[in-house]
Amino acid sequence: MNKGLLLVLSGPSGVGKGTVCSALRKCAPELVYSVSATTRSPRAGELDGVNYFFKSREQFQDMIQNDQLLEYAEYVGNYYGTPRDFVQKTLDQGLDIILEIEVQGALKVKEKFPQGVFVFLMPPSLQELQQRIVGRGTESEETIRHRMNAAREEINLMQHYDYAVVNDRIESACSRIQAIITAEHCKRERV
Ligand code: 5GP
Repeated sequence: MNKGLLLVLSGPSGVGKGTVCSALRKCAPELVYSVSATTRSPRAGELDGVNYFFKSREQFQDMIQNDQLLEYAEYVGNYYGTPRDFVQKTLDQGLDIILEIEVQGALKVKEKFPQGVFVFLMPPSLQELQQRIVGRGTESEETIRHRMNAAREEINLMQHYDYAVVNDRIESACSRIQAIITAEHCKRERV
């Protein structure tokens, strides 16, 4: 049986990865979504096991030590990581899975899964990105500064990705990502 496609959607925080992923859930329900583990506190409305698996630093360290994470990164003072088994089992079942993760983690996944499909979600501009992060109203001024600095560094790493998708409108970004998935399946049919 063919293995599924490992799709990594990455890009700076605030670019709208989460929103694009939620929209993809509706227009591409056959895609499986990887739920990450994190040490950050839940935001209003976020649920354990749905948005993230919320962990203490000790629990997260245990996951690292027991090799349960495909990748992890420390981002603005918190750990984020992808549970390995779920990804592997999904691919082995021939299903496509999408990981919505930051850039350092995406590059680590690329080392382990060079056959994955790496998509960089771009803001229309850096000013627009800052407005989106401020507009969320969940971050302190210092965190916003950190996130903008991180965003500038992350955009410099775009060259390592297979595709760039500008998130100007959610629907357009979604249909471009679906087109990428279709193209990648066609590419694999060739062999
Ligand atoms: P937030 O705190 O805004 O939910 O996420 C912060 C950043 O962590 C976002 O860029 C998000 O994509 C990223 N992230 C979420 N889950 C993971 C993960 O499992 N691994 C890595 N490396 N980054 C993640």
